[in-house]
Amino acid sequence: MLQFEEQAAGSAGPGLQGATAFIAPDAVTEDASSRRVNVADKRIINGQTDVNQLVPFKYKWAWEKYLSACANHWMPQEIQMSRDIELWKNPNGLTEDERRLVKRNLGFFVTADSLAANNIVLGTYRHITAPECRQYLLRQAFEEAIHTHAYQYIVESLQLDEGEVFNAYHEIASIRDKDEFLIPFIDTLTDPAFKTGTLESDQKLLKSLIVFACVMEGLFFYVGFTQILALGRQNKMTGAAEQYQYILRDESMHCNFGIDLINTIKLENPRLWTSEFRDEIRSIMTRAVELEYRYAEDTMPRGVLGLNAAMFKEYLRFIANRRCQQIGLDTLYEGATNPFPWMAEMIDLKKEKNFFETRVTEYQTGGALSWD
Ligand code: FE
Repeated sequence: MLQFEEQAAGSAGPGLQGATAFIAPDAVTEDASSRRVNVADKRIINGQTDVNQLVPFKYKWAWEKYLSACANHWMPQEIQMSRDIELWKNPNGLTEDERRLVKRNLGFFVTADSLAANNIVLGTYRHITAPECRQYLLRQAFEEAIHTHAYQYIVESLQLDEGEVFNAYHEIASIRDKDEFLIPFIDTLTDPAFKTGTLESDQKLLKSLIVFACVMEGLFFYVGFTQILALGRQNKMTGAAEQYQYILRDESMHCNFGIDLINTIKLENPRLWTSEFRDEIRSIMTRAVELEYRYAEDTMPRGVLGLNAAMFKEYLRFIANRRCQQIGLDTLYEGATNPFPWMAEMIDLKKEKNFFETRVTEYQTGGALSWD
């Protein structure tokens, strides 16, 4: 097998060179063909097939999401920030509460996508043995970089205090608490000594994947996205709102990919899904809802833009129920409803739709446009 990344440099593992240098030509052919990837042998975790061979495809959903993500490509500097800058500079342009909301909002997001990127690149990627899924993760990692770029672009455009915004995850309790909750789950996967293959370690991996998809990308982003998109709906900060709209679309795909990944690992490894494990995940979700609700209260202590923290309590419960359902858990909050039905429309953004009309180029990249 050609699993280069698993071999230390200079090790005598079964690499390409070893196979060709010392074995007679006929034997190489026979030996080589026996190493061809059999699609039935592929696994999301603990797979033994060659991770360098993307095909034959087994996990088509991952490949489809990779293609969709590429079709949605965008770059922050394509979006004009001139109206936002004008509004921000105008002393009467925004209320103090709206300014606090924008700054606290960016205070979470400017570092959140770096955490997500590191989690993928230094953690998750190593433990996933399906090349289709790795292909999507590579795309996702780049999208996390684009998101960090977008937040930086907004901070720079508005000439905010960079030190204040980029240190908010140390200095603002409601932001720090969210990140401190996440970090142990990232540390599990990025620990160089961590290896899958036992019940305990595979459950740890699955737990970290659930935290990332269902809590980080599936819950902790939603107060912030809703706030900035609500500003945009009131024709304020439309350049920032447009970028958040693209980020929301990307993140909702990250979340859906993560959920497909989780459910496929469950199918392939049913022994991981014990009742103790399910209870633990439900308590993690409950804690996450509390943390995100506290962040909502902190970012809008008085209610702003027709939004208030109580509406977010309901919204977070609604989202948490949805995440539980998506991974096959019983819901946590009976009867929770969605106070922001317009958010669904934002998530399902289609090519033709451009709510804030601040973008200067085509919505999708040229290569993705249909010619018929
Ligand atoms: Fe993400």
